[in-house]
Amino acid sequence: LIVLGIETSCDDTAAAVVKSSGEILSQVVSSQADLLVRYGGVAPKMAEEAHSQVIDQVVQEALNQANLSEADLSAVAVTIGPSLSLCLRVGVQKARKTAGSFNLPIIGVHHMEAHALVARLMERELQFPFMALLISGGHNLLILAQGLGQYIQLGTSIYDAIGEAYDKTAKWLGLDMRRSGGPAIEELAREGDAESIKFSIPTKQHKDCNFSYAGLKTQVRLATESRNINAEIPISCASSQDRRSRADIAASFQRVAVLHLEERCERAIEWALKIEPSIKHLVVSGGVASNQYVRARLDQVVKKNSLQLVCPPPSLCTDNGVMVAWTGIEHFRVGRFDPPPPAVESEDFVYDLRPRWPLGEEYAEGRSEAR
Ligand code: ATP
Ligand code: FE
Repeated sequence: LIVLGIETSCDDTAAAVVKSSGEILSQVVSSQADLLVRYGGVAPKMAEEAHSQVIDQVVQEALNQANLSEADLSAVAVTIGPSLSLCLRVGVQKARKTAGSFNLPIIGVHHMEAHALVARLMERELQFPFMALLISGGHNLLILAQGLGQYIQLGTSIYDAIGEAYDKTAKWLGLDMRRSGGPAIEELAREGDAESIKFSIPTKQHKDCNFSYAGLKTQVRLATESRNINAEIPISCASSQDRRSRADIAASFQRVAVLHLEERCERAIEWALKIEPSIKHLVVSGGVASNQYVRARLDQVVKKNSLQLVCPPPSLCTDNGVMVAWTGIEHFRVGRFDPPPPAVESEDFVYDLRPRWPLGEEYAEGRSEAR
């Protein structure tokens, strides 16, 4: 099997070609970082336009890198949720057009499932059941993966995901927003004293596995105000004392943000092992999982519980087409796909987008339908 994966659910336009043997034939990502800087966040309509502008080019580049044409493909996989319809639609239309013209089946993919399953592409030993902590810009999820498409949610983000907290902290500290906030904070935190500010660990009194970063965000904002940090002054222009102060906030934020993850993982492992004593792995994926400090701290938690940590390489943790193609392959193998759409673009042909789609909720039967 050779599958093309297309991803446009958030601010990256990505495509990749992957073989069912696990070989990655190509991987292309076009990021909207410049738009983010100019407008301080991506408005849905702008994101849609940005995806539309580059989608053909990104897919073509993925095919070129793989040295293939559409006719060599076995199927097209595309993210159909959860996210904004406006963005999802760009990828889905491209998938539909490609599949229609070349008579290829389509596989609709859940974005967060893809973040989790890409770990099985990297680590062939990784069998169900396993646990996964998915940490990204819009989600914090702790799940027990019992089988393909079968997930028990142990915890989710009540207010704000961790990636959002990294991004806001970076903005308040005047970090370079031409890339996402996470890597900038990770780097600056290395210069700071993580014990210098005692932020409180979020919702520690709740003995569950849910997450909330809203309170920590507020604490960080107050800390930047009380230390007179002016986000308008880029860190590259800050005095050494000012820089030190920003680094202390970054390090203290990161320490507590990750302590929240550690505490929740400890509890989730305990719960999950009661349901599935055979679990051996905790997968950590999603953009924030590319952070080395996050990985090191979670590795400790996992080892203490005699489990093994599986973390995809950073380029497969942030949004990418490989995870979509691979998840498509996993579903295709068990016969879960839709037949090729009509070759001619037809207004009557609707593909079911799923902007709100809890992980673990069944894939709908016959996801493509004629109106
Ligand atoms: P979702 O997957 O929830 O729909 P998304 O697709 O926008 O959101 P991803 O691309 O999976 O998110 O992850 C992006 C997030 O990861 C951003 O918030 C970014 O700051 C964060 N991130 C990326 N690299 C790092 C890092 N090294 N340290 C911390 N956070 C990081
Ligand atoms: Fe993502």
